[in-house]
Amino acid sequence: MPRTLYRDAALADGTGPELQVGVSVLVDDHRIEWIRPTGDELDPGPDVDVVDASGCTIVPGLVDSHSHLTLPGGAHWIDRGFDSAERLWQVAEHNARLQRAAGVRWARDVGSPVRADPVDGRTRALALGVRDRWAGRREYPYVRAAGSWVARAGTLPPGLGVEVEDGAGLVDAAVGQLDDGADFVKLYLDGPDQETAPFTVAEVRAVVDAAQRRGARVTAHSGMLPGARVGAEAGVHSMEHGFQLDADVAKAMAANGVALVSTLAVLESWRSFARTTTVPRFAEPAGRSQVAARREWAHESVRLAARAGVLIAAGTDFGGGSLRANQLAWEIECLVVAGLQPWQALAAATRNGGVLLGETDAGVIREGGPADFVLVHGDPLSDPAAMWRVWLVS
Ligand SMILES: [Zn+2]
Repeated sequence: MPRTLYRDAALADGTGPELQVGVSVLVDDHRIEWIRPTGDELDPGPDVDVVDASGCTIVPGLVDSHSHLTLPGGAHWIDRGFDSAERLWQVAEHNARLQRAAGVRWARDVGSPVRADPVDGRTRALALGVRDRWAGRREYPYVRAAGSWVARAGTLPPGLGVEVEDGAGLVDAAVGQLDDGADFVKLYLDGPDQETAPFTVAEVRAVVDAAQRRGARVTAHSGMLPGARVGAEAGVHSMEHGFQLDADVAKAMAANGVALVSTLAVLESWRSFARTTTVPRFAEPAGRSQVAARREWAHESVRLAARAGVLIAAGTDFGGGSLRANQLAWEIECLVVAGLQPWQALAAATRNGGVLLGETDAGVIREGGPADFVLVHGDPLSDPAAMWRVWLVS
């Protein structure tokens, strides 16, 4: 296999606001052999393929911390969850190609429908079979998958996730997902009644403990404030969306080491549906103002979390929300609009995702590490839209 020298690029690795220019990177057998100033390269040896990377910035392979690999997204994303298993398997293959082209190297799958797998016949969350079959194949993202959604009965459309009636059922369902091969547990802290959390702090803590005994972590969907309070106090490992935090919840999250997985672009996508669809909850005036209000609170929540020192990782929610698999750049832009510095938004979509996953190779660029980096045209540290302009994925 020939070695590849990426010459005279800029570099932004999400550790600070300064763009490094004049950087060369030598890759050998999918590993980074060295990173040097272009004016001071080491001899790359014979048989080297030189890529003129000028005008591009090298960024770490992106980590989409909130993916739904088996689902396509769009304004009818929930309906799509009831498509045939064969169809959803094809969707996952398509999503892998979209992610790869967009520079996403790691996908954290936070929920898929339970079905008979069209390839191995096992009945379990579909993303688990997808993860297993993609493992070790460079053209696919690295996947960590949660199994299916565990929620209080009446929260999700029947037949989509795993429904439970009480705290004991919650623990059983969570352990059941781990038995099926899930890497972590995803539970719902929104309930059928939006004003009330579906589980108590003690009930959620019991799940966190049960998962911990299996060496696994628990993440919680939280769109509403009552559930966010419970998740923060119970010390789940992370909360997804966190659209309604307040200062006390943000403080409790920081104190208990609860990360926030931001999905602000979901609300931008919903805003766009006011123009592109006739779906009443997006297109009608009442729907529009509801989305606008949620967007405002969600942005404030990100600011509160950042101020409190909460780890923020970025996700698209593609598939299980309305985005598509190649749109993580949108979330980076949204985080900057919400108030993060561009380098912090880049960190959210790269290294912070690695921290969240507990994967030291995810979202980082280092000598000796895997060559999972991306070349984007422009400077993402002054212009986050550069993250859309992916030229090469190593
Ligand atoms: Zn989701």
